[in-house]
Amino acid sequence: MLKQLQQKGFEVIYFKINDKENKQEFIQNINKIFKERNISELQYQEPDEYRLSTELKKLESIENIKVESVDTEHFLVPKLYAKDFFSEKKHWRMEEFYRNMRKKFSILMEEDKPIGGKWNFDSDNRKRWNGSPNTTEDFRPSHNHEKLFLEINNENIEHFGEGQETSFRWPISREESIKLLDNFIAKDLVNFGDFQDALHDENWRLFHSFLSFSLNSKMLSPLEVIKKAEEAYYEKDLPLASVEGFIRQILGWREYIRGVYWANMPGYDQHNFFKHNAKLPDWYWTGKTDMRCLSLSISQSLTNAYAHHIQRLMIIGNFSLLAGLDPKEVHKWYLGIYIDAYEWVEMPNTLGMSQFADGGLLATKPYVSSAAYINKMGNYCSNCKYKLKEKLGEDACPFNSLYWNFFDRHQDKLSNNPRLGIVNSQLKKMDQHQKIEINKKANFYLDNINSL
Ligand SMILES: Cc1cc2nc3c(=O)[nH]c(=O)nc-3n(C[C@H](O)[C@H](O)[C@H](O)COP(=O)(O)OP(=O)(O)OC[C@H]3O[C@@H](n4cnc5c(N)ncnc54)[C@H](O)[C@@H]3O)c2cc1C
Ligand code: SF4
Repeated sequence: MLKQLQQKGFEVIYFKINDKENKQEFIQNINKIFKERNISELQYQEPDEYRLSTELKKLESIENIKVESVDTEHFLVPKLYAKDFFSEKKHWRMEEFYRNMRKKFSILMEEDKPIGGKWNFDSDNRKRWNGSPNTTEDFRPSHNHEKLFLEINNENIEHFGEGQETSFRWPISREESIKLLDNFIAKDLVNFGDFQDALHDENWRLFHSFLSFSLNSKMLSPLEVIKKAEEAYYEKDLPLASVEGFIRQILGWREYIRGVYWANMPGYDQHNFFKHNAKLPDWYWTGKTDMRCLSLSISQSLTNAYAHHIQRLMIIGNFSLLAGLDPKEVHKWYLGIYIDAYEWVEMPNTLGMSQFADGGLLATKPYVSSAAYINKMGNYCSNCKYKLKEKLGEDACPFNSLYWNFFDRHQDKLSNNPRLGIVNSQLKKMDQHQKIEINKKANFYLDNINSL
């Protein structure tokens, strides 16, 4: 990026982590540049994160500097658009926002009606993948990052990972990002919809796009990604369920999540609806657990800085919530692990969608499941030490007892949730003795969480 800006004729001042003149503090670095270069005017595009936005606002109080900012051009709507959209409404719902965005940007529309007669093909997006159709090759570029890794090590920056892998498998330029996008549209978008929620031990990517890093670091614009997918529907006759499913993630979820962030900052990170406070198990930093779904998802995250949505939500997030882990600690873990983790998108997804820490502002019910769902969506449970159908035996899958224990211990907060009617009535009907045994088993697992 640095070279590309320089090639375009921009003068770029870039502080490397080990530069002597780097004061290791953003405002101090800016002030230093102001003084050295006699700068009297600063113009900037609004940053995406609250912390940085607050820091930049401080510059307005510096004497003799004229500061001007404009909204960022890297999203489709202004940051408070969702807040205004929902201002008269009782609840925030992504689907309502998404329909508004489809109309506003005229995406997959026939006049004012959605193409195909339906707004949402979500129910078609839940197939299990059994090895067919084959996925295509991994189109991400490779970069040697040995030198950078050494610099980080030499500065004693706390980190995980050994750095033996000298290959950084993510795009670092717009050209590389466009190539990744074009390959995804040409080869994988066709199957994206069907297998969006699938899990498989031999295939950690399935048909996901790997585009979040390029989007969040602004090498691609969301509208160009959406337009290319829409064009593929018209010109390549791709299935509507796949194209709509993919577009919904960016036009709907991505913009909506950003709206939730800005409508609730500062303070969103202080929510802890269930008052969960357990420490993260040690194996969150190694992947060394006998729970195969978690071992595979965490190891892959630590090695590749990537997990797809269902691994983040229904494996790691699901366990974190059932186990009562401190949501702020879970949030910090996600922020530190994933290549695409920027606070504006990571925080609402983790604290809101996955940990229900906001009490239902973002999700209408907690995203939790027992082993049955995990087994339905993929093959992680085959070859696992734990028995997926058991709740109580010695090697019973921990998800099963933790699931019922979670609902039992939070009845005061969840018994009136209209979306949890079935689980609440099953819990009510459950034999008292069985309930006691399940809670005992769950507590045994929680007490021995590092040995799972
Ligand atoms: C607990 C949790 C934490 C998450 N943290 C992040 C994060 O730090 N950064 C991030 O970009 N996404 C995050 N997500 C959303 C989503 O999981 C990732 O965007 C996606 O896995 C990235 O992989 P991909 O590019 O292959 O996505 P694909 O499955 O190919 O989807 C296409 C694009 O849709 C967008 N998208 C899909 N779902 C979401 C969503 N829920 N919120 C915002 N954008 C979405 C992304 O830009 C993504 O690139 C998180 C989800 C959960 C449940
Ligand atoms: S049996 Fe339980 S722990 Fe093992 S993979 Fe399945 S859900 Fe995960």
